Order: sequence, then structure tokens, then C-alpha cells
Amino acid sequence: MHVLVTGGAGYIGSHTVRELLKVGYRVTVLDNLSRGHKAVARIISGAEFIWGDIGERELVEEILRTREIQAVLHFAALSLVGESVADPARYYQNNVVKGIILLEAMRAAEVPYFIFSSSAAVYGEPVTVPIDEEHLCRPTNPYGATKLVVEEALRWYATAYRLKYISLRYFNAAGADSSGDLGEDHRPETHLIPVVLQAALGVRREVTIYGTDYPTPDGTCLRDYIHVTDLAKAHVLALQALVAGHPSSVYNLGNERGYSVREIIRTAEQVTGRKIPVVEGFRRPGDPAVLVASTRRMKEALGWRPQYSELATIISTAWHWLQRHTEGYADI
Ligand code: UDP
Repeated sequence: MHVLVTGGAGYIGSHTVRELLKVGYRVTVLDNLSRGHKAVARIISGAEFIWGDIGERELVEEILRTREIQAVLHFAALSLVGESVADPARYYQNNVVKGIILLEAMRAAEVPYFIFSSSAAVYGEPVTVPIDEEHLCRPTNPYGATKLVVEEALRWYATAYRLKYISLRYFNAAGADSSGDLGEDHRPETHLIPVVLQAALGVRREVTIYGTDYPTPDGTCLRDYIHVTDLAKAHVLALQALVAGHPSSVYNLGNERGYSVREIIRTAEQVTGRKIPVVEGFRRPGDPAVLVASTRRMKEALGWRPQYSELATIISTAWHWLQRHTEGYADI
């Protein structure tokens, strides 16, 4: 089966391309390189890489038709909460407008299966923790709102048209492929684990803790960190299930464990054997105190089991990558 991975040169997309190839899919990647990395195409030799935009309807339709694509895994999106608050129009344009164009191209080319990169940001401030898929969706930032709009479109499209989809709501993706050649490289980097490790390495002066007065045991936010390879494997499972007749659905992906910012820093100090300079700062707008997933639904329905769920494993694979790529993919 031939699949299209949009955003396959990005962080979660590239790890998923690797897992798809391992189990025998033919893979074409479409990436506009706005956040992805050209070097990924050299590292992952088994896939075809096309540099283009999902908003180019004719290009997408042509790719789908000529390669007889049966499924699209859609990662190409902007995903920074702060950036989305500062420039919501850009998020609606990229994530919603272009997402709908992609679905239109799929409809025209009669591609039946769709796996969507969604986010815990669709829930907003949690009312109950752990958060299951029935939890109220009331996003507190444009990023989460744009993911929810596409999810809602998918629900209606699947009712009306020949489309089946699985939407995967990620909690905090982290870590890197155990081979050490794929990893996380965002410009600028804002995510906690890479920021902490850059401080350990000395390429960043310090880590600022965004808020120490949250109603949590140590005053810092709790997040559910999930290894990127576990996420990638979940996409393969979801695709296989969909093709085998599994109904359209929405699943959380996380580890069902919350770690505080201070716990992350402490574990990173243990893994790296280095002291990490820390500054205590103010809260970052839009950050809920606690985000922890219930992943019961995914485990029961699809038999998914995270294999790299230990925090030390997540951090050590990210450290392994960073030590070999101190400048990220620019090193290659
Ligand atoms: N965080 C922090 N300092 C940083 C980056 C993040 O204290 O330099 C905190 C942030 O407030 C949140 C957690 O770490 O509580 C995870 O943030 P990240 O940006 O990695 O992911 P998000 O939860 O926003 O998707």
C-alpha cells in the first residue's frame, strides 16, 4: 500500500515515515520545509520526498492520483501555542484552510483513509484528570482551536463521504529514534526537554521555569511526555486498523503519567551527569497546570502499548541525538 505523509520531514512525521517503511508501506512525503528538514530525505532513503505545499491543490491531487495513494497521514501543520496566540490568522490559514484543501484533493482522487495529527490542546483547561476522549473540548489557544476545527470537519466528512479517519491527540512528544539519526530540531526551540538538554550541553545558558506557583506538588506544571517512536508506531497501528475496517475514531496518545518541570530537569541532570542552570520565571500564558492523558481507549481498541515510556529513556534518546547534532540537522 502506498501512503502520503504530509510534513514527513518534520519531527513526528519523520519518525513515522521510518516506522511505516519498516513494516513495508510505500511512502511519499510532501513537505514545504517551513518547519521540516531537507536532511531527513538523505537520512531516510526508502521514501520519495517532494518539496511542496499541501495548499497546492493541483499538486496534491496529482501526487495522490499518479501514485495511487490509498491513505494520507497528515502532520504538516504549525504547532506552537505562543506563536498561534500572537498570529492566529497564520494558524487558521495553515492548519485549517490548507487542511481542508488537502481533504478536497483526497476527495477528488478518492483516497479513503486519513490519519490526523491532533493534540491535547483541543481539550483546553482540564476539568477532570486524567483526560479521556470524552472530556469537553474547549481549546484555550488558536493552535488547539485549529486542530479541533479539522477534527470536526473530519467527523462530518466521514458521515457524508467515502472517508475513514483516525485522529490522534498527542500529549507531549519527546525523545528521538534510538538509532540517533532522527531527532527533534525546532527553530527556535521552545519545548522543555530539548531546551533542558541544550542547557546541559552548554549551547543554551539556562532553562527558565515558566511558573513555580501552580497548584501542583512542587509548584511547576505537570505534563505527560510520550516517546516519539511510540507515537510513530501508534500511527502505523491506526492505519492498519482503519484499513482492516476499524471505524473512524479519536484517540489520546500519552503515557498516563505526569512529570513536573522540576522532575524533568532533575532526571535530565541524572541522565547527562551535568548540572543544569535554572532560572525561575513567570507563568507562560495559556499553560494549564496539569495535562495527563487517559489512553485506555487506544490500548483497548488497538492494543497499543508504549515501549519507551520511562522518562529516563525518553530523555536519554533525546540526549543521544543532541550530543551528535549540537546544531540539529544543520550538522549534516
Ligand atoms: N516549560 C518551561 N520552560 C521552558 C519550556 C517549557 O518551564 O523553557 C514548561 C511549560 O510551561 C510547560 C512544560 O514545560 O509546563 C512543557 O512545555 P512545552 O513547551 O515543552 O510543551 P507544551 O506543554 O506547551 O506542548
